[in-house]
Amino acid sequence: MRIDIISVLPELIKSPFDASILRRAIDKNLIEVFFHDLKDYSSSKRRQVDDYQFGGGSGMVLMIEPIKKCIDSLKSQRTYDEIIYMSPDGRMLDQKISNKLSLKKNLIILCGHYKGVDQRVRDSLITMEISIGDYVLSGGELPAAVLCDSIIRLIPGVLGNETSALTDSYQDNLLAPPVYTRPSNFQDMIVPEILLSGDQKKIEEWREKKAIERTKNLRPDIFD
Ligand code: SAH
Repeated sequence: MRIDIISVLPELIKSPFDASILRRAIDKNLIEVFFHDLKDYSSSKRRQVDDYQFGGGSGMVLMIEPIKKCIDSLKSQRTYDEIIYMSPDGRMLDQKISNKLSLKKNLIILCGHYKGVDQRVRDSLITMEISIGDYVLSGGELPAAVLCDSIIRLIPGVLGNETSALTDSYQDNLLAPPVYTRPSNFQDMIVPEILLSGDQKKIEEWREKKAIERTKNLRPDIFD
C-alpha cells in the first residue's frame, strides 16, 4: 500500500511514522508513506496557500489551486482508490472503515488547517471525508496519523503476531477481553486462575465470555 499525505505542515505528521509498528511496516516495505508540503505547489513567490474567506469572518482558508495542483500531479503518476479529506463533519472513523481501507492500494489523505479548505476542493476532488470524533482540532495532521495507524496495523505482516489485530476490540463487534502479565500475584491482586491453567480451549471460552460481558457493560450500543 502507498499513502500520500498532503499538508501545510508536514513536520506535524512525520513523527508517528518514525517509531514502533509504523516504522517497522515502512522498513519491511509493507507500506510506503510520502509527505507533500502544500507550499511546494503554490504559484506565488511567498509560497502562499491560504487566503481570507469570502464574506468575511475570522480564519484563513486553504486555496484550491495548490491542492488541485498537488492532487493532479499524484494522479498523473498512478491511480488512487480514495482521496480522503480529514474533516470534523466527515463520516466518523470506525473499525469497519479502517478494515476496508486497509485492502486498498493507493490512498491520498488531505489535511486541512485553519478554517479548513475551500468547499470547491471537497466538491470536486475528494472521494471520502473522515472525522476522528465530534471535536475540532487545529489541523488534519493528527487525525491523518490516527487514520493511518488504524489502517497500517491491519496490513498482513505489520503486526508481529498475524492474529493479534483480529483479537482486538471492534473486530466482530466485541470489545477485547482483559489481559494480564507477570507477576501473577501483585499485592494480592491475582490473575484469573484459568489463564495459568494451560488449557487453551478453556482459556478461549473464558476470553469470549469476558469479551461479551465487557461489551454488554461498556458498549451495549454495539452489542448485537
Ligand atoms: N472550520 C472547520 C474546522 C476546521 S479545523 C469546522 O468548523 O468544521 C482545521 C482542520 O483540522 C480541518 O480542515 C480538518 O482537516 C482538521 N480536523 C479538525 N478536527 C477534526 C476531526 N475531528 N476529524 C478530522 N479532521 C479534523
